[in-house]
Amino acid sequence: MTTPMVRAEQVCKDFGSHRVLNGVSLEVKRGEVLCVIGPSGSGKSTFLRCINHLESVNAGRLYVDGDLIGYREANGKLYELSEKQAARQRRDIGMVFQHFNLFGHRTALENIIEAPIRVKGVDRSSAVARAKDLLGQVGLADKADSYPAQLSGGQQQRVAIARALAMDPKLMLFDEPTSALDPELVGDVLQVMRNLASEGMTMVVVTHEMGFAREVADHLVFMDGGRVVEEGVPTEVLSAPREDRTKAFLSRIL
Ligand code: ADP
Ligand code: MG
Repeated sequence: MTTPMVRAEQVCKDFGSHRVLNGVSLEVKRGEVLCVIGPSGSGKSTFLRCINHLESVNAGRLYVDGDLIGYREANGKLYELSEKQAARQRRDIGMVFQHFNLFGHRTALENIIEAPIRVKGVDRSSAVARAKDLLGQVGLADKADSYPAQLSGGQQQRVAIARALAMDPKLMLFDEPTSALDPELVGDVLQVMRNLASEGMTMVVVTHEMGFAREVADHLVFMDGGRVVEEGVPTEVLSAPREDRTKAFLSRIL
């Protein structure tokens, strides 16, 4: 049996007295695409952020590729990882946010080569060659020298995806990558994600794009109130939801 890429066991996260994740358990196998849907405030972003060390888990266990995220376990006890150990885990995980988060004073190419050079010690010429390759893959071969402000939202998001891919991640996390885009720019970004999926990238995608979920996702999770309320094959969950909360949510957005 191969290790799943992501395994969450009863993951809980509190902000003060507010339990935002309340026992989330799920698994993402290698090469699988998981889509996560659910109302605003249900804990979707927090869950992704826990996977990527942007938040720490308060209870439960979260594993990426078999590694316990943020902690190590010895003699039945948990010990928090050092910042350096956590950075080592994070480096293999790519994340794409709703608001691109590119460096505004750097060109597309410079945005992409920054982390490989700084974090991985890749030499500049190899980093540049790879960045150009990635820009080609996301359909922006001619935009290497453009600054973010000179690019559309959809183009910026594709640069952000290329930037994440430049670290050769084993897992890609997408947090509503198309929610901030004008409708006519959504398709190109989804196409890049579709290509990635078909190349076998393991992906967790928080999205409201039900067409994408239906077509690309292997598995769909509906979250509400910090819990996984319903999950399954996307076509089944979307066309025949079992839980009332899923039905109510889908009837609002479809
Ligand atoms: P979603 O992405 O599903 O909209 P979030 O994970 O962003 O949900 O948020 C879940 C809940 O956690 C919300 O009630 C939100 O207000 C709260 N929350 C998120 N981040 C923080 C934070 N840093 N401090 C306090 N509360 C937070
Ligand atoms: Mg969110």
